[in-house]
Amino acid sequence: MDRAMNRGAAVVLPLIEVGLIAYATYALVYSVGVIYLMNPDKSWNIERRRSTGIGLIVVYFVLFAPMALAFMRLVQVIWANPGVVPLGDPTSEKKGLSTKQFDRYDAYTCEYDGLPRWCHDCHNFKPDRSHHSSDLGRCVRRMDHFCPYAGGMISETSHKFFIQFLFYAAVYTGYVLIVMAVFLADRIQKIGSHPGVWIGAVACAGVFFLFTSGMFLTTMYYLSENLTTVESLNRANVTTIAMRGTSPDLSRAVSTANSANCVVTQTTPIITEVQRTNSRSYVVVQTQPGENPWDMGTLPNIKSILGNSVFDWFLPLRMSPCIHPSEAGEYEWGIAVQKLMRENGLGSAYRSRRRRSSHRSSRG
Ligand SMILES: [Zn+2]
Repeated sequence: MDRAMNRGAAVVLPLIEVGLIAYATYALVYSVGVIYLMNPDKSWNIERRRSTGIGLIVVYFVLFAPMALAFMRLVQVIWANPGVVPLGDPTSEKKGLSTKQFDRYDAYTCEYDGLPRWCHDCHNFKPDRSHHSSDLGRCVRRMDHFCPYAGGMISETSHKFFIQFLFYAAVYTGYVLIVMAVFLADRIQKIGSHPGVWIGAVACAGVFFLFTSGMFLTTMYYLSENLTTVESLNRANVTTIAMRGTSPDLSRAVSTANSANCVVTQTTPIITEVQRTNSRSYVVVQTQPGENPWDMGTLPNIKSILGNSVFDWFLPLRMSPCIHPSEAGEYEWGIAVQKLMRENGLGSAYRSRRRRSSHRSSRG
């Protein structure tokens, strides 16, 4: 029932928003700009303010255009490519299913047995950072939240356009709020009348300004830490990660510390070592509680979604850079995980060591 209601709201709410924008356009452009400022009724006994009216209307459309573009791009991506994970065969079981997709990575998030996380509903492994959405009935890559105001799922594919839409909508509603409030006060003072349409526009713009600016600031705060809304709810948890490599590296790391006569505090909780049938070895480790495995630092975190150039930050056109997986993993690993790999000769450290040794043997 919840699911049907959410999905219904995701169709109705964007239409209501379009209606409200049409209403704001009527109130600000026509009622304030064209009538009140440029062609006032003779009986009002007020001066004609043509240039003020034209200026207000021009600025209105300059702010309206990027918001409309971001909104159309957002809705288009949400409907065309919400970033769902393919469904598995309903008869398939976790054990025995190919992990080929994960084997090319230095590391991936996993369960205690070292296998990737499993979705019982989709009958498939979950890529890193994906979550099962009850609204879509599917696992979604880098799922953020289901937003009926934007028409559906905010995820890897749409997060950038969602943030851009919130920014432009906050600027637009802020402008409508200020212009309507200023000229409502002006009109009350000069001719003593206060049309319902103007009061309604002030109220709607006020509500949506608070909503969009608050949402924008919250989303940017989470993005600066590279957390999705789902992850922010579980941020105190530990993350279990399978890293490529073998445990002799780990014992060496520990014994080196011993021989140097240091107090050994084993801070990396190692759960198990896994030997796959394809002769690959993985060491299963856990992060510290509250440690975000994806936090690369504020600017790289923001760039991973908004893009690498200032044009990308503001233009709602290109997809986010984080969508393209690398050898490192489904997404770039954060500072804490990279350190863990380096110190224990696992994951990327294991890969670069193997490269160096194969390079040496090919030269020798
Ligand atoms: Zn699922």
